[in-house]
Amino acid sequence: MVKNDATKKSCACTQRLRDLIRAAQPVKESSLKKATCECCGNVFWSNSEREYCFDCEAKGRK
Ligand SMILES: [Zn+2]
Repeated sequence: MVKNDATKKSCACTQRLRDLIRAAQPVKESSLKKATCECCGNVFWSNSEREYCFDCEAKGRK
């Protein structure tokens, strides 16, 4: 008889590791929001609430 219980069972350690990997993964593109810059009207994508595009934000910081 072949002993293959280890491959059949889903070990709790493996499950935890999988959760860790999932949590460590970068933000998915689906979480990006479409936004329009209030300064130049450029449409851009951002994963956070923004009023200005990257260009205008960079300019405004100067
Ligand atoms: Zn802009």
